[in-house]
Amino acid sequence: MSLTDDDFLRVLSKIGETDALVVNVVDIFDFSGSLIPGLQRFVGDNPILMVGNKEDLLPKSLKRSKLKDWMRQEANKVGLRPVAVSLVSAKKNHALADLMTTIEKYSKGRDVYVVGVTNVGKSTLINQIIKKQLGVAELITTSRFPGTTLDKIEIPLDDDHFMIDTPGIIHAQQMAHYLTGKDLALVAPQKEIKPKVYQLTGGQTLFLGALARFDYLTGGKSGVVVYTDNNLPLHRTKTENAVSFYERHAGELLQPPAKENLEQILPWERFEFKTEQKSDLVFAGLGWITVPADAVVAGWVPQGVGVTLRRTMI
Ligand code: GDP
Repeated sequence: MSLTDDDFLRVLSKIGETDALVVNVVDIFDFSGSLIPGLQRFVGDNPILMVGNKEDLLPKSLKRSKLKDWMRQEANKVGLRPVAVSLVSAKKNHALADLMTTIEKYSKGRDVYVVGVTNVGKSTLINQIIKKQLGVAELITTSRFPGTTLDKIEIPLDDDHFMIDTPGIIHAQQMAHYLTGKDLALVAPQKEIKPKVYQLTGGQTLFLGALARFDYLTGGKSGVVVYTDNNLPLHRTKTENAVSFYERHAGELLQPPAKENLEQILPWERFEFKTEQKSDLVFAGLGWITVPADAVVAGWVPQGVGVTLRRTMI
């Protein structure tokens, strides 16, 4: 289901008509790729609790309170005003008890709707909650959303209130849509990300596999920090040689994707930014590179994926 699907819009407006808590699950590794445009408007006066999942991917040294502040501020920038922000790892079963306490606090005996784009780990989270809440799977599957064909899971919270799962919404701007199987496994991190530091001078380029390219165009000698899957190969070259380097090595030294899949990701699109402060250059779904202030940088990605600049997360 896509963000513009009628079924999806019906689900959201149905939530807007009820009195409920909305739990918006996001992937902190792909934060902007997990935001649902217009969510605040659709859910009306209902409070939103933002849950940042995949916490296990971020360095342990990163202060969780700082990360929550960052999430709240980034959410505010796109018009989302969550009443609270939680961090969990659904896969590692981390902080889920805290999450249930927070949900109870803000739901105040109302129903709870869980919304999220695909791939944020919503099913993993729902399954963990089911295991936690219910000894046996006493689940009800009903058509909560009149006018749609969607059957969704409901988890009883008390005698007459439920946590209701909603269909995952497809967000087109995700690298995941351009990759398959083995290639996908090389960009979706499974373990804590080990940041990689590069000392760069103006006129140097980093390739992220053959999937993305980062140009450090001007700026003094400075460290940039790459946050991507630990197994994604990175290669440095001179910007002036980058095109021929790509032509010679794409699909071989530069992977993923493998040679036979290169066609799928072309053509590339280029995004250029001048940084005013230390910032993250985000390659949607692939990760980000923290760059210094007063630098001119460019990011190249397959058309449709998108590169953005944001206030630094870490
Ligand atoms: P959904 O589309 O939102 O329902 O997402 P899934 O539950 O199917 O999960 C999408 C991917 O994210 C899967 O590869 C999961 O293994 C992974 N995933 C889910 N939760 C976590 C988590 O807490 N940490 C990490 N590292 N990966 C997770």
